Amino acid sequence: MKDTLQFESSRATASFTVKKEAEANLPTEFGPFQIVGFRSTNSNEEFVALVKGEIEPEKPTLIRIHSQCLTGDVFHSLKCDCGPQLQRAMEMVQEEGRGIIVYQHQEGRGIGIVNKIKAYALQDEGADTIEANLRLGFGIDEREYHQCAEVIKLLGARKVRLMSNNPDKLRALRDAGLDVVERVPLEIKAKEQSFKYLTTKKEKMGHLLRLNGIF
Ligand SMILES: [Zn+2]
Repeated sequence: MKDTLQFESSRATASFTVKKEAEANLPTEFGPFQIVGFRSTNSNEEFVALVKGEIEPEKPTLIRIHSQCLTGDVFHSLKCDCGPQLQRAMEMVQEEGRGIIVYQHQEGRGIGIVNKIKAYALQDEGADTIEANLRLGFGIDEREYHQCAEVIKLLGARKVRLMSNNPDKLRALRDAGLDVVERVPLEIKAKEQSFKYLTTKKEKMGHLLRLNGIF
């Protein structure tokens, strides 16, 4: 029986397009995590996961897929809610004592940092985040979550409590064969500068946000 299971898991791993390459301890302001590095086997993309606690397939696991946002995560931009969302997710995993945050390098919903700055310039002239992307010749959202789902599977999780307001991410993980048992809202209070961006996410991209005014 054990041999069969091992065969099954090695066969499943063989079809993966990401590979775990490195793992180390990472003490953070929010508590200690394991940091795990993955590489795509069919592109130059790298993925990082912060992991806490024992991850088991039968136990629902608190999970976030966070898309890199240089301006929000590093420069504390007020144009979006990415930085506070990442910090809140780390706090929630720390409080729970168990969970995974997958950090994917798909900056600016997949268009890259320089194109994102071009989009910001169009926004300075009055375009919203979607109009700006479309005027630059991109889709509304160029991100793709298939390999993030593989990272989650390789870390041993199957039942997901997803910290997200984005219905596309819920759908993508379900399509990839993960059991999304719960959506855990991750709402950051809108600031004056991010209110328009969050309103666009809610009204044009179907994000599950309440947006009860500006704080
Ligand atoms: Zn952002």
